[in-house]
Amino acid sequence: MRIVFKDKKHSSGTIKDGEIVLYISSRLSRAEQLRHIEELTRRLTPRLERARQLHLVGADPLMGLTPSPVADDAALARWAREINERHYGFAMGQVRFRKQESRWGSCSGRTRNINISHRLRGGPHELLEYVLIHEIAHLGELNHSPRFWALVERACPDWRERRRLLRQYGEYLRARESAAASETSKLVW
Ligand SMILES: [Zn+2]
Repeated sequence: MRIVFKDKKHSSGTIKDGEIVLYISSRLSRAEQLRHIEELTRRLTPRLERARQLHLVGADPLMGLTPSPVADDAALARWAREINERHYGFAMGQVRFRKQESRWGSCSGRTRNINISHRLRGGPHELLEYVLIHEIAHLGELNHSPRFWALVERACPDWRERRRLLRQYGEYLRARESAAASETSKLVW
């Protein structure tokens, strides 16, 4: 942690280069300065944790993944048809990228359309492929029963590993977003 005293009315703090940096008002009493240091440190510590997590989670397990060349709906739909023809042969509706944050993909049993989260567009190819296969398999089984996973396994034998990486990728994206947010925002007291 770095503490800089400044001739300013307010104290503030931020995360910089992996550490907490505090700018404490030099106009305050010693006791007030201590209180500002304590409070800003308490509020900035979770951000520091997230920044560290970003480094750990972001760099290592996802390093071997390749960016996907599938970046538009036409290419995505073509790829889905190929997978479906080779492994399943289900009736399939439209396949599109959709602006959805909470789920990686969804599949409608009624329209048989498949939506893939825009957050995977241009993301890791291996994870996009897993999500696509997962949703196509739902055309056969609209649940997560052993029968469903057997369908997934047909086209994606290492689905367990991909599912694990997908969770890590989600954590990585969240950590990156909150790190970006805390880099631009400064806590002021
Ligand atoms: Zn599912």
